Amino acid sequence: MVDVRKRFGAVTALDGASLDVAEGEVVVVVGPSGSGKSTLVRCLHQLAPIDGGAMYLDGELLGYEHVRGRLVPLTERRVAAQRRRMGMVFQQFQLFPHWTVLRNVTEAPVRVHGVAPASARAAAMELLDRVGLADKADAHPRQLSGGQQQRVAIARALATRPRLLLLDEPTSALDPELVEEVLAVVRGLARDGITMIVVTHEMAFAREVADRCVFMDAGRVVETGPPEEFFDRPSSPRLAAFLSRFS
Ligand code: ADP
Ligand code: MG
Repeated sequence: MVDVRKRFGAVTALDGASLDVAEGEVVVVVGPSGSGKSTLVRCLHQLAPIDGGAMYLDGELLGYEHVRGRLVPLTERRVAAQRRRMGMVFQQFQLFPHWTVLRNVTEAPVRVHGVAPASARAAAMELLDRVGLADKADAHPRQLSGGQQQRVAIARALATRPRLLLLDEPTSALDPELVEEVLAVVRGLARDGITMIVVTHEMAFAREVADRCVFMDAGRVVETGPPEEFFDRPSSPRLAAFLSRFS
């Protein structure tokens, strides 16, 4: 994304944010509350339209196309097609409460991607196994702990084989004792080479899992670098001040 701007009324949530993610890269985004982290991933997923700048996935412009030299918004259908190439995991899981775990994971592949139900189920069972929940396939979300629900949400986001996985504070709604089981799953995805953007306040985890860390403040990407430099030798005073709160 290049120089992306997003306003909510008088509030500037993104003030020219730029970020690149390479294939297979794990980018961890940290920053104070209100710095625009959620807005950044929500805009990337086209859940909110941007006011300026541009975003690309695999070199393709997101949300717009050039028609005779003019920039024209894509139809909702084409936006949906672009959105399907990303997966998103929200802070609040957002599973469908009246469906089983298995159906939560198979629904998008079957309804949206046209995958045959039997192969969607087989793929979903593999994913549930990967997040350690194969035995919960027939349970309903309310029967699961928050950590288990979030692991289902991760399996669901992966079920459509996204090019890019977006995780917005996946552990911040969890009781402390449930955080680690979700971080362990994300760590596994990182090892498997899944391309992701992870927003988190878990600094030890960020340092360990990130190929690159990004610091956001006031709607901008202020600093980015490999974890050792980022945490041990921050170049911007704002990042140094932010990090000092965690040590
Ligand atoms: P973060 O995730 O880093 O805490 P956000 O992206 O949620 O930050 O918010 C950035 C700024 O945009 C904040 O000032 C927030 O209040 C504002 N904001 C975010 N979403 C909305 C919205 N839907 N309506 C109005 N203001 C919003
Ligand atoms: Mg947020």
